[in-house]
Amino acid sequence: MKLVAVSKFHPVSRLMEAYDAGQRIFGENRPQELAGKVPRMPADVEWHFIGHLQTNKIKLVLPYVSLVQSVDSLHLLEAIDRWGGENGRVIDILLELHLGAEETKHGLSEEEILLCCGKVPFPYGNVRIRGLMGMATNTEDEAVIEADFARIEALFNKIRAERPELRDTFTELSIGMSGDWPLAVRHGATMVRIGTDIFGPREY
Ligand SMILES: *Cc1c(COP(=O)(O)O)cnc(C)c1O
Repeated sequence: MKLVAVSKFHPVSRLMEAYDAGQRIFGENRPQELAGKVPRMPADVEWHFIGHLQTNKIKLVLPYVSLVQSVDSLHLLEAIDRWGGENGRVIDILLELHLGAEETKHGLSEEEILLCCGKVPFPYGNVRIRGLMGMATNTEDEAVIEADFARIEALFNKIRAERPELRDTFTELSIGMSGDWPLAVRHGATMVRIGTDIFGPREY
């Protein structure tokens, strides 16, 4: 399992402490902040983008990241594919499933994700779908969180079962944050995204 250290809002000095302790994967959710930190960290850091990404900001993000975890619309997927084509790259991404009830959360529906993964021939030649990402409902109620994780786990397994040709690349299930990662691990997480438990509280 991969540990993504979510370093948003923390200064590079704090990231370097984690780096010196052996951490190599860092997650950021704001394009400007990511672009500012990249040149100040060692070159072997692997950056993941985990926030809502507007299409007019992708050029600030795609040159630096090894994975965009938060592809939350087909419009964004198409824009990333186009950028990849123009820049001779294939971009690894996760599709973000909308979980939970909160209106403000971004994400694709199950139907949209199934449609997207089912397209034959796959129309996005400069994008590689590596799996799914989700954020569980923000609640203390473990039953609600479990239900969210069970839903994304089932979708992940369904796509792998129905599309054997994807099996070698569609391998990542990114679920679990500081408050709920033990539950996520029980539901098959291959990546957890941990901020607070590593760096302490963020100052907004
Ligand atoms: C901030 C953030 C996290 C980390 O949250 P913590 O509760 O601090 O561990 C994980 N995933 C996403 C998408 C985030 O925005």
